[in-house]
Amino acid sequence: MEIIMAEKMGFCFGVRRTVEIAMKIIENKEQNVITYGPIIHNEDLTNYLKQNGIGYVLNVDDVDERKAEKVIIRTHGAKREVIENLKEKGVKVIDGTCPYVMRVHRIVEKLSKDDYPILIVGNKDHPEIIGVTGYISNVPYFIVKDVEELEELRKQGKFDKIKKIGVVTQTTEKIEKVRKVVNYLMDFIPEVRYFKTICYATDENQNAIHKLAPSVDVVIVIGGKHSSNTIKLYEIAKSYCPRTYHIQNEKDLKIEWFNINDKVGITAGASTPDWIIQNVVNKIKEFERILERGEIYEKRS
Ligand code: SF4
Repeated sequence: MEIIMAEKMGFCFGVRRTVEIAMKIIENKEQNVITYGPIIHNEDLTNYLKQNGIGYVLNVDDVDERKAEKVIIRTHGAKREVIENLKEKGVKVIDGTCPYVMRVHRIVEKLSKDDYPILIVGNKDHPEIIGVTGYISNVPYFIVKDVEELEELRKQGKFDKIKKIGVVTQTTEKIEKVRKVVNYLMDFIPEVRYFKTICYATDENQNAIHKLAPSVDVVIVIGGKHSSNTIKLYEIAKSYCPRTYHIQNEKDLKIEWFNINDKVGITAGASTPDWIIQNVVNKIKEFERILERGEIYEKRS
């Protein structure tokens, strides 16, 4: 079996930065620190933080109950009003928002000031997008996940009076999908201002899996079940390689997925810690040894 790692994968700059803030707090044995929402979409990591005293809340109101003195804003960011409400409560806010997400906040703020309606391409329920909407004021905005949803809104007449529009995307969007949306908008809106807000880390991880997936027999995509950039990596890999599996950690691996002569490609979402990737590689090597010894021959036949 040959294990081939994607050229780029795993923790991105933004996640590494926020996780380092939390790790430093653990190292300094600081008490009464929580995060606003799970720090990143990775259960193993959020469990680790919880075991070391950094839990999370989903609502500002829950901060009092936890007697929190410091609140870390997660990588995905939060609405401006959330940050203001936290400050009003007297807690210290440590802003772990990824600078690439902050850039989207600044862009929609400016578009709002310049009176541009805004189209966001992304998942309306994702914390990053919820946060972004908190920086839009006094202009209509729309959130679509793809060109089909945009067509639907157009049929409903939502764009009838719109002559100009600003477009931003979730940082983890796929560029192919965004191109379709922008091209479609250009058909009927005279002025379309598109801002490329897909972050470089997402681009790099996606490009690497585009390159790797066609040349392997199996692809293992490691990352949280709710991590949108991991899901995108899975979709890309699956489009080339039918034997693509999305796992959260080594415990999800199944020996039945592998054959002794397989080339196994590995990639990981931007919120996957290095130690989980290493555990997965070790487990696949363990499977390889079992397959070599033919120990599961009976079970497989
Ligand atoms: S994927 Fe990009 S935008 Fe998201 S946290 Fe990482 S660097 Fe920031």
